Amino acid sequence: MKRAILIHPDPRLKKVCAPVADISDELRTLADDMLETMYDAPGIGLAAPQIGVLDRLIVLDCVKEEGAAARPLVMFNPRVIAASDETNVYEEGCLSIPEQYAEVTRPKVVDVEWIDRDGNLQSEAFDGLWATCVQHEIDHLDGKLFIDYLKPLKRQMITRKMQKLKRERARA
Ligand SMILES: [Zn+2]
Repeated sequence: MKRAILIHPDPRLKKVCAPVADISDELRTLADDMLETMYDAPGIGLAAPQIGVLDRLIVLDCVKEEGAAARPLVMFNPRVIAASDETNVYEEGCLSIPEQYAEVTRPKVVDVEWIDRDGNLQSEAFDGLWATCVQHEIDHLDGKLFIDYLKPLKRQMITRKMQKLKRERARA
């Protein structure tokens, strides 16, 4: 089932989310809903707080090549356990901050550990767009948005645009 995506500014997007204890069917359904919502948007990543659920859960699929097989990843309690000194700059966007993009510098390669949908511990090294995306999504679980990396003036400009967008949507 598709869920509504919260738009910044929203207090739920600023919260530190709680770790998940057991991987229940309820949580698996939540992850499936998040994947459906992400693909529909369309986006390459989504974190639970973006649909108002304050659990440490993210989904992502950064396969972009035409005709390539999808690779949906579901990560409970994901954490970066190592990061490269080498950095990468990507123009990032966010489903909670529609149509706003800005360059963010992050480690180029990160080792991430998480619990998969079957309850198994997984780890993998991510590079390039996957690394940027997984770091962006994990940030959401700590109440951090990509605009928090920008200079205050630029961040305020984007926030004002989003407040205007929310007012327009509320009237529609
Ligand atoms: Zn985001």
